[in-house]
Amino acid sequence: MTFKTGAQVPHPVDTLVWRPWELALAPFQVAPRTYYVSGQRWVGAYLVDAGAELVLVDAGPAESLYLLLDANWQLGFDPRCIGKIFVSHAHFDHCGAVAQLRALTGAEVWMSAEDAAFLRACPAETLGVDPRLAVFPFEPDRLYASGEPLRVGEVVFTPLLTPGHTPGCTSLFWQVTHPVTGGPLTVAMRGGAGVNTMSDAYYTTSACLTPDLRDRFIADAEGEKLRSIPVDITLPSHPNQIEILDRVGSYAPDSQPYLDRAVWPAFLDFIAARARQERGW
Ligand SMILES: [Zn+2]
Repeated sequence: MTFKTGAQVPHPVDTLVWRPWELALAPFQVAPRTYYVSGQRWVGAYLVDAGAELVLVDAGPAESLYLLLDANWQLGFDPRCIGKIFVSHAHFDHCGAVAQLRALTGAEVWMSAEDAAFLRACPAETLGVDPRLAVFPFEPDRLYASGEPLRVGEVVFTPLLTPGHTPGCTSLFWQVTHPVTGGPLTVAMRGGAGVNTMSDAYYTTSACLTPDLRDRFIADAEGEKLRSIPVDITLPSHPNQIEILDRVGSYAPDSQPYLDRAVWPAFLDFIAARARQERGW
């Protein structure tokens, strides 16, 4: 079993707000057509080159948007060609940059109806969890239909509603082609896997989240629906959740350093166990 967690970033919000360049990380390829482009090591964002247009899976926080733009340029991609932004969930670290990025690119912003409502109802638990953060509210342009494939250029994406961490957390799956064998590969990012919003203490202060979300999270992580998806390359929404930074720069079409089907079920086991711990099971 080759799944392991990555290093924690100490005091990420402090650093992000005052010294974001200390988190800077050059972009790198992780899968066919797919690049880590958040520009920093705390939270991931992935650029998918769909041919006709570029797709961004999560946009990161507003504070590191300049690093994300630079990461795209470094790879030779013009960020103004980003046509769609797929948001995994409504927390500032994954979509704080969305409003500004949409203004710069004209990209269409997609998210779940549940998290669009969460964004509206609970600014203090989504974009404004810390008073030092810059808050740029937004409404999505489009809402996901969970489980319905969505073709963008040459890549098919499937969003799947996987609530728990937020009411409308969405996991994203996309199909690419192995550049050497020509066979299909499934890439996945499990949206919002952190148990920090699933503790009893959190529920006592939250205006929007309830313990049934934690039960749903455990049921999904342990259920057949997610496990039966043959995910070839599992990407973390935060690199501390799944180690990928140990292979930065090692991507090659024939070696596929992130291709490992054991990671997806092992990661589901890991997050289910952590949520069960919060539940006291
Ligand atoms: Zn989150």
